[in-house]
Amino acid sequence: MKSVLEVQSVSKSYNTIKALNDISFEVPKGSIFGILGPNGSGKTTLLGILLNILKPDSGSFRWVDYQDNNLARKKNWALIETPNFYPYLDAVQNLKIVAEIKQCGNQLIESALQQTGLYERRFSQFKTFSLGMKQRLAIASTLISQADILVYDEPTNGLDPQGIAEIRNLIIDIRNQGKTIILASHLLDEVEKVCTDMVIIKNGKLLIYGPVAEIVSDEEWIEIAANNMNSLESLLNNHPGVTVKSKSNFFVITIDKSLSVEELSKLCFQHQIELTHLNQRKRTLESKFIEIVKQS
Ligand code: ADP
Repeated sequence: MKSVLEVQSVSKSYNTIKALNDISFEVPKGSIFGILGPNGSGKTTLLGILLNILKPDSGSFRWVDYQDNNLARKKNWALIETPNFYPYLDAVQNLKIVAEIKQCGNQLIESALQQTGLYERRFSQFKTFSLGMKQRLAIASTLISQADILVYDEPTNGLDPQGIAEIRNLIIDIRNQGKTIILASHLLDEVEKVCTDMVIIKNGKLLIYGPVAEIVSDEEWIEIAANNMNSLESLLNNHPGVTVKSKSNFFVITIDKSLSVEELSKLCFQHQIELTHLNQRKRTLESKFIEIVKQS
């Protein structure tokens, strides 16, 4: 799968505090990529580095589709704090000011207002907006440029349940238009509901990285490889209790209740398939996950 961002061994300290410790991951194109961690885990520091606001002590990152990090420098697609809109100006006037600062023209203002559900209220003063509407206007301000990667830091902070639901649906909607979204959040629930891929960081260290469905799955994900991958493949494909999820150096499979890992292993042995790799993924992921949830 194509990546839009590659992060390699990024570390950053503030005096004695190691805010980021050797972080590496890739963001798939078209994903909603969650950076999940309790407060103080290093999310804002990481976004600051990716947006060229902060310098890493070591390590590097690359926005794959861009020659340099100019786009990041312009910050025309990031929402890392609520912008200061003018209270007495309306939504359109405020977005025109943002467009002026970003030098991206006014062409997309109308569609941004429509998409964020603010079109009907476009001539209302900003000060009359609810908190959820203010936040949606902030998101609209990231949609008025042509950017195809958007970065949001805690986009639902402080909102009531309805406001949260609106923002989450909006983010999914934006992604469905073909954009890639990187979203930092301390809310497990948020990442689970909205994101397609995620990293979990805690105390600056990366604990989990992968597709959300895989990480939060109730099923047991098993990595399996053998000396004869073709024989293994046909055995897996022909067993009704096995679902093959992906194939790389090893198969990732799930098994239903009719089959245990021990039985599968025995079955392979009976078919003279010598296993070279067998790893039950969920348990380790889940235990780390629970540890994080408890902390936050
Ligand atoms: P998060 O966004 O996940 O809440 P941060 O990136 O803000 O985490 O912070 C990570 C760690 O770095 C925390 O321990 C925080 O106190 C520390 N930190 C962040 N910014 C600074 C700074 N400018 N000076 C000193 N310590 C900082």
